[in-house]
Amino acid sequence: AELPTYTAEGVTLIAHAFRGTGRMVSFYTRERGLVEAVAQGIGKPGSSLAPAVELFTHSTLFLAEARGADHLSQARVIEPFYELRRDMTRYGYAAVACELIVRTTEPGQTIPGLFEMLVSYLHAMRGPTAPSPLAGAAREAGGVRSAADPRVLSWAFEFAYLELSGIGPVIDRCPACGAEGLGGVYVAAQGGTLCGECAPRDAGGCVVSPGTARTIAAMRRFDVGALERLRLADATRAQVRRLIREHIRYHLDLNLKSEQFVNGLSQWEPPPRRSGTRGEVESGGGEDDE
Ligand SMILES: [Zn+2]
Repeated sequence: AELPTYTAEGVTLIAHAFRGTGRMVSFYTRERGLVEAVAQGIGKPGSSLAPAVELFTHSTLFLAEARGADHLSQARVIEPFYELRRDMTRYGYAAVACELIVRTTEPGQTIPGLFEMLVSYLHAMRGPTAPSPLAGAAREAGGVRSAADPRVLSWAFEFAYLELSGIGPVIDRCPACGAEGLGGVYVAAQGGTLCGECAPRDAGGCVVSPGTARTIAAMRRFDVGALERLRLADATRAQVRRLIREHIRYHLDLNLKSEQFVNGLSQWEPPPRRSGTRGEVESGGGEDDE
């Protein structure tokens, strides 16, 4: 019998070798959420499917339903995101988003707004547009490039993803007593920042200042233009880094491999130039971290 066929717009999250020249590919699609599909003959010269199964590629996919995994029959690339595969740091951050989705969603599960946010994230992660006579054509299919700090973009995606999934950290009130207030002592098991009355007395809590809470609130709106203007003080970075890692570990039971990869890379980056860091002000309340 003929297999039912369908068309979907998708981004390649991960691909594994499968039966010789085949690939088992996980796509996140606009229409059906996570789709797992077999693409045959990828290892052969001239494969028409090969470009679409490269990581991060945004394509129109022609698929046939099958038991287990669907079959990819044709693909038309919309955006290959070459830049993300040429720069190890940007590759790592793009992979963080893909790994987060592939490890925490089920096939067929659609999270409204996620596909659009993923495409927007990948476009932004390509980095700023080089000055050129063609710079006016910056807006491209589904997103714009951005000069935003890749680390900030990546955190913003993670926070926004947690919000879309309904498991974001509570940072604007105490999850124990309900008292309103930005920040406090983050306790993973409580899912947010506890007020001074409810916070455990023992040392070692993850303190989140009101300024950091405001920064997180700004990041999780995932407005690429606003993210470009966001500057995080070192103290804010430290608080954000610890909170997001503990929250994802506790609430998704996950240590992202790509996150470890990119953190390892960052140890080898040259220190930031003085001229670039002087006078940086944390958006919306750096004074809280002093
Ligand atoms: Zn409280």
